[in-house]
Amino acid sequence: MSKFNQKYEPVIGLEVHAQLLTETKLFCGCSTKFGNKPNTNVCPVCLGHPGVLPVLNKRAVEFAVMMGIATNCNINRHSIFARKNYFYPDLPKGYQISQYEEPLCENGFLKITTKDGVQKNIRIKRIHLEEDAGKSIHDKSDTTLIDVNRCGVPLIEIVTEPDISSPEEAYLYLTKIKQIVQYLEICDGNMEEGSLRCDANISVRLKGDNNLGVKTEIKNMNSFRNVEKALEYEISRQIDALEDGEEIIQQTLLWNADLEHAYPMRTKEEEHDYRYFPDPDLIPLFINDEWYNKINHSIPELPDARSNRFIESYSLPKYDAEILTQEKDIAEYYEMVAKNSRDYKSASNWIMVDVMSVLNSKNISIKEFTIQPENLSKLINLISDGVISSKIAKEVFQIMLESNQDPEIIVKEKNLIQISDEKTILEIVKKVIEKNPDQLNEYLSGKEKVVGFFVGQIMKLTQGKANPQMVNKILIEELNNKKNKI
Ligand code: ADP
Ligand code: ZN
Ligand code: MG
Repeated sequence: MSKFNQKYEPVIGLEVHAQLLTETKLFCGCSTKFGNKPNTNVCPVCLGHPGVLPVLNKRAVEFAVMMGIATNCNINRHSIFARKNYFYPDLPKGYQISQYEEPLCENGFLKITTKDGVQKNIRIKRIHLEEDAGKSIHDKSDTTLIDVNRCGVPLIEIVTEPDISSPEEAYLYLTKIKQIVQYLEICDGNMEEGSLRCDANISVRLKGDNNLGVKTEIKNMNSFRNVEKALEYEISRQIDALEDGEEIIQQTLLWNADLEHAYPMRTKEEEHDYRYFPDPDLIPLFINDEWYNKINHSIPELPDARSNRFIESYSLPKYDAEILTQEKDIAEYYEMVAKNSRDYKSASNWIMVDVMSVLNSKNISIKEFTIQPENLSKLINLISDGVISSKIAKEVFQIMLESNQDPEIIVKEKNLIQISDEKTILEIVKKVIEKNPDQLNEYLSGKEKVVGFFVGQIMKLTQGKANPQMVNKILIEELNNKKNKI
């Protein structure tokens, strides 16, 4: 980062495109399925042949409205579609149908919480529906191939006001957007695969200045970390340029993740270059009360609300609640485990630590995780009922991962049940003391540290199955008996 950071402040606005999880395209019945053979998900409508008429996808409208409600926007009951005209090989129609003057959603906000716990609202200027363009594939032999399968796939574009003040805030905002679209199940939120795309607008200004500086726009960042890095890069570049007395030129830059460098793409088209005008083939979109209410009703509990409920219903620390609600499927898994186990905090620890580390190391989602929530509940109950120790439980967990078996059966079959019988433990304690006279003498001469040694020996002898609390209690009693006899 530039050494002039104290003097300047960054101003950032993000434009996020989210690909909607509808079965069919925005204005025709073609499939949106990813990975089909190139140029097979097409019809005269999405190819823009003369004489065809687009018909709006109702589900896509519902998804866009859901996002608007979830981000506190006003839903414009009346909105219109516009043609955004430009020439590009992957756009056979010569224009993209979008919304311009009257978008579906406006003036919302999203709350983010920074590392220091400070809450901040990022205002959302607009969310509109639009169709995607096709894809140019530049292959090795210097030719470019066109795949129009993606032409007409529904997107929402979410545009913020320039309220974001650091790369970290941008990261938090994007994480929030991803979390919400996944909770709403309107987009899979995968930035690496392009279902979530982000363009970043950046300018810098002297601290305290109320005017906005000239901005640049960075495209082509395909991960949240890349957005953060690209922003850091561009902020430094702009500050250094200003310090050198240069002017910032409004332009579009492309981020190169390998080189960690942004390169100019083209000078930004002026808005009128797109010659926006209302699409004469589409009637205005009108959302009546009945439809609005139905959509509003279909909105599930959102991440913030769920996190608060976890804190209240399961008495979890805020930290746990936030981690567990990060992903909807993990939150659901937690609730299924918690429902059948009596120890909510232990359920949280098992998921945050043991389950999540398996997910990370295997790079799988909770949906692919093999241990059924009922079985994890049983494991937790075996610990809280004193049937097995937590140490043995970790072993059982490993066996469950591989065998997908009921922990109660594993514990019985492998004879892992905790030894909690006082007489048995006392016998073992006596045996271990007898076998180690040197350590006993050390204890008698005041070296209480050797207790640990004895505990270790007892655990070794019982293969970790002795109830640790009881071992401690009985061992100390027995050692003190010896002391008193001197
Ligand atoms: P454009 O006409 O270049 O598309 P918009 O006004 O539509 O610009 O804004 C696009 C995005 O850029 C929005 O997210 C907005 O908040 C952001 N933005 C606008 N002006 C600035 C600026 N000076 N610095 C940083 N971001 C800005
Ligand atoms: Zn089509
Ligand atoms: Mg714009």
